[in-house]
Amino acid sequence: MKATAARHTGLPFVPQPGPNELLGSWLLRLAQFYGLGLATLLGRLGALQIGVAHLPQWFSIDASTVSMDALSAATHLLRSDFATMTSSACRPGWPEELGACERCLTDATDAGEPLMWNRKWMSPLATVCSNHTIWLTPVATRTLACVRHAADFGGIVQQVAAAQAQLANEFACAGDAQWLQRRCTARTAVRVPWGWGPAARLASARGRGGSRGDRGIGLGYRHSWPAGRSAAGGQQELRTRPRQR
Ligand SMILES: [Zn+2]
Repeated sequence: MKATAARHTGLPFVPQPGPNELLGSWLLRLAQFYGLGLATLLGRLGALQIGVAHLPQWFSIDASTVSMDALSAATHLLRSDFATMTSSACRPGWPEELGACERCLTDATDAGEPLMWNRKWMSPLATVCSNHTIWLTPVATRTLACVRHAADFGGIVQQVAAAQAQLANEFACAGDAQWLQRRCTARTAVRVPWGWGPAARLASARGRGGSRGDRGIGLGYRHSWPAGRSAAGGQQELRTRPRQR
């Protein structure tokens, strides 16, 4: 395979990745352009890592399965470009459902643009589209696993649109969810105190994060306080903050 990669001078045309497009989504579009299956394309480019017998699901493709150097040589894109296109791996495995933005997908469909999968949708903690500030629509992971070609995204758009129509009457508090999403995904150094714990820990987390946004943590904490354990201290903290001046 390395010999193959060394011989070719790169693909003559390469569709550019979209903003935040998942690596596997872009590879599917690339393969479709050349009329090849994904595994065949990567094999012809010599881009499969040595020892990879079976290509993982398109949404799981990362540097462990595909050689970014070979891909860079074939597509003339920078290796660093690919580093921002993979999703963080899920341990121990993908959840049964992930989210997708119905508006992002239908807007692209209506505009006749290529359908792409956003890498941000692959986080189990992603609940809101940062472009449209609307809830992501649940998509079964097994549905994503059935995608073999970029054209298969069209079927998913229809499913997402139908599911979103059913969710249209849900209480809309996407702003709160977006705040939680940012907190959980961006501030990894902060341990959000879900569940029970010492009252001092709650007070410390509330003190760190500012004033308005941390209200949600206090509520979640209070609701999950275990029965039989004195919650007086914790609720005291909740009642006395913000302090009266
Ligand atoms: Zn969107």
